[in-house]
Amino acid sequence: CSAVELHSIAEYSRHRHGSCVLKATMHAKLTISLAVALLYVPLGAAYYSATKLRKYLPAPAAPNHVSDPTSSLSPQTFAFVDSALQDIKREVLVSCGGVSRGYEVAVGVLGTSQTLGIDGDDESTIVTASADLLDEWGVGHKDCNNGVTLLLALGDRKVGIFAGKGATGLMTNRVRSRIIKKMTDELKATRDHDVALRDAVAFIGDALNGDTSELFKWTAEDYVNYAIWGCVAIWGCVYLADAAYNRCKDKVRQRRLQRTLERIDEADLQAAAEEATGAAARFNATDCPICLEELPGTPGAAAGNTNETLLLRCGHSLCSQCAGEWFGRGVDRAGIWYPLGEGGKPTGCPVCRTDTRIEGQDPDHHNGDDAGAGGGGGGAGGGGA
Ligand SMILES: [Zn+2]
Ligand SMILES: [Zn+2]
Repeated sequence: CSAVELHSIAEYSRHRHGSCVLKATMHAKLTISLAVALLYVPLGAAYYSATKLRKYLPAPAAPNHVSDPTSSLSPQTFAFVDSALQDIKREVLVSCGGVSRGYEVAVGVLGTSQTLGIDGDDESTIVTASADLLDEWGVGHKDCNNGVTLLLALGDRKVGIFAGKGATGLMTNRVRSRIIKKMTDELKATRDHDVALRDAVAFIGDALNGDTSELFKWTAEDYVNYAIWGCVAIWGCVYLADAAYNRCKDKVRQRRLQRTLERIDEADLQAAAEEATGAAARFNATDCPICLEELPGTPGAAAGNTNETLLLRCGHSLCSQCAGEWFGRGVDRAGIWYPLGEGGKPTGCPVCRTDTRIEGQDPDHHNGDDAGAGGGGGGAGGGGA
């Protein structure tokens, strides 16, 4: 602001409250947001500090395979796990470059994952940290890359397992995920990290021996999950089958109606129409019996009504909207409207209960025909065989 020449107090005041103040505010805002951004980056979901990993989790002192710098494990568990891992290295061998080498499994135990700067809600970054641990500690033979690392954060019950390329054949993604899940479930249920770690190391030993039967044995939770999925699947199948059956039934009904319409004599339809028209003249109805509105086409009908008046074979009339709601779909023949008799809909007139379908449309009348046709087909098939 000093570079600008100011000629009066008023000008100075305008200036002060104008661009200079604005610039200063923007500057401050920018600085604050930058600071906030810097503050949040370390707390971001996929962040952890490799420096802290090196600093707080030194490699196990040879010949040990477990690093527990905060002495969180009981001495018994430390001894059990460490000797189990030494057994694996001695006895569970893999051939690489013509030489048999033992799998190397190392375990790191942390107070909490926040020690590495991992966010409290972040469940997956600890796996990345366990991968870096493999390189950092040099777990596995360098020719075989057959190391496995397990990183356990006790305070927030997080587990990461990583396997080098030479070990992923047995320590597959599925195996690692299952062990992690079993371990975190156990930690959450019992908070007994000694038992959880012993079990996990036993599962890793089994897996490297090619045996995952115990690991994938169904738990009560699995049974519940599969039962739920089974029920959902069965319900879905029943629903689809029911929908298909109903569609099929509707098609059959429509074909039957078509056949009926073809069979019915035009003269019969005309006779029915005359009878209905005569009855309608006697009833002399002007209102729809359902909605009680003036029927379209009668002198008192409301203007702009897009409904039609439908005459049923009994001589009663409905507006087309009410007919649709009452009967479902229908067909018009010689001036009479006949309902199709679709599933679940009534076929009787709402006023006099007369069956309003076309004569002979009742499905019961045709069951004999269908059975006869089916039997004939079966007979022909039998003859061919
Ligand atoms: Zn109506
Ligand atoms: Zn009627």
